[in-house]
Amino acid sequence: MTQVSDGFVRNIAIIGGGTAGWMTAAAIIRAMKDYPCTVTLVESGDIGTVGVGEATIPPIQLFNRMLKVSEDEFVAATQGTFKLGIEFSNWRQKGDSYFHPFGKYGADIDAVPFHQYWRKMHRRGRAPALEAFSLSTMAAKAGKFSPPSADPKSVLSQMSHAYHFDAGLYALFLRRYAEARGVKRLDRTVRDVRLNAESGFVEAVVFDDDEELCADFFIDCTGFRGLLIEGALETGYEDWSHWLPCDRAVAVPCEQFGAPLPYTRSTAREAGWQWRIPLQHRIGNGYVYCSEYCDDDKAVSTLMNNLDGAPLSDPRHLRFTTGKRKKFWNKNVLAIGLSAGFMEPLESTSIHLIQAAIAKLMTVYPDRRFDPIDIDEYNRLTEIDYLRIRDFIILHYHATQRDDAPLWEYVRNMSIPDTLQHKYDLYGSRGRVFRYDEELFADTSWVAVFEGQGIQPDRYDPLVDTYDEEKLAAVLERMRRTIVAGVDSLPAHEDYIARHCAAASV
Ligand code: FAD
Repeated sequence: MTQVSDGFVRNIAIIGGGTAGWMTAAAIIRAMKDYPCTVTLVESGDIGTVGVGEATIPPIQLFNRMLKVSEDEFVAATQGTFKLGIEFSNWRQKGDSYFHPFGKYGADIDAVPFHQYWRKMHRRGRAPALEAFSLSTMAAKAGKFSPPSADPKSVLSQMSHAYHFDAGLYALFLRRYAEARGVKRLDRTVRDVRLNAESGFVEAVVFDDDEELCADFFIDCTGFRGLLIEGALETGYEDWSHWLPCDRAVAVPCEQFGAPLPYTRSTAREAGWQWRIPLQHRIGNGYVYCSEYCDDDKAVSTLMNNLDGAPLSDPRHLRFTTGKRKKFWNKNVLAIGLSAGFMEPLESTSIHLIQAAIAKLMTVYPDRRFDPIDIDEYNRLTEIDYLRIRDFIILHYHATQRDDAPLWEYVRNMSIPDTLQHKYDLYGSRGRVFRYDEELFADTSWVAVFEGQGIQPDRYDPLVDTYDEEKLAAVLERMRRTIVAGVDSLPAHEDYIARHCAAASV
């Protein structure tokens, strides 16, 4: 066991056993395996979890690698499938569709981004649609999948993927992992939180039967309730509903329909949008909507009338307010997951934010003084994560051309954050994208959504004109053909799953 100082945080209490609680427990017990510290997780069987959150983005692979779990084992245990991106239908206009892929478009030439060459040639009728240059998009549309090739010369080395999984099975998978390594689990309901009268720090959580759990450090994973961060510490919440007005969701699983698609589908509807997440044993569906423009009954009928298979349960209703906690970390309480904030799952970012929170925690791991300088830095960096993701999600709404329903009229005309306006100005001028503050979404993502939503400026980077046009046409054609040949060589998604990671039948 590693020697530690007197001030070492020895007792960590994680309150909440949803995806956030179990991801945090698994990661901490793994990172702290050589240190004298106990990790206790409290979850309430009476309260349960939010039970949604089934689509992810590629960085989740880093999390799995950190835990040293095998991809095949993890996918099989969670009835998982592979995800190559998101298809957005009806967002720009009804009947219109575009794909936001993982991985890159084409290859940059002479340090000028690929999309700049493509934009020139496409406008001249000398290049096909952008998606022809995305391996992930073409593979997704062909229903093909294989993990990236280890050969850097192969186009298949550019595959980039994430997962769809059953949220309940994911929490169970992580619970087994964490308990096997020493996390203690209590199935109890927290009734109260006891604060130190002088410092205001949390000393203990109090259960229904008046028993207490004391700890040095509390991680609030109690979901939308925010039992410690808000209920006890009254940290405050920044409401972003004026930019992201959807505030409800209704979710229902349905029977599998055909082979599972290797991508998520997001279909804009009258007062919001519907998700479709294919798993091995079912499809997850939900309608995220704005209660100002749609009542709950209408939302249910919209969802139930747009399922690909028979529903497997009654619809579940969820309510939320988009925004974030004013501080994610306050005194000796760190909020992770829905207790920290919420942005609708349009780009599957919530589970990523849990992972990002855990990674940051490990870089500023506290001692029992809880130095404000570390806490402030954690809050500053996490705030940047939230703001940049928020801007990207707002873009999908604001860049719509739809005028057929009040929600779309509102979002098309609303004012937007200055940081997003700056992105618009740069793209609208010459199609330029810059990545600020290590933001999550790289240029492929911004280009996919700008172009897909119809922000398509005529001008492009002037350096593109220094490249001979005939030579450029030939290069682009070669890239396109390489992708076609690469996709042809891939197995069907369902065959890959059957061979490597089929779940036990249910
Ligand atoms: P919860 O799952 O709500 O867990 C809270 C835990 O706290 C539970 O164990 C509960 O029992 C416990 N608890 C609460 N109160 C008490 C108490 N008093 N005593 C003891 N225990 C208590 N994210 C994505 O990345 N991709 C998606 O596709 C996606 N889709 C989503 C769709 C919708 C409609 C919503 C609302 C969210 C979606 N998310 C998605 C977000 C994702 O679901 C969450 O980030 C994730 O599930 C983490 O939730 P959580 O663990 O913070 O909260």
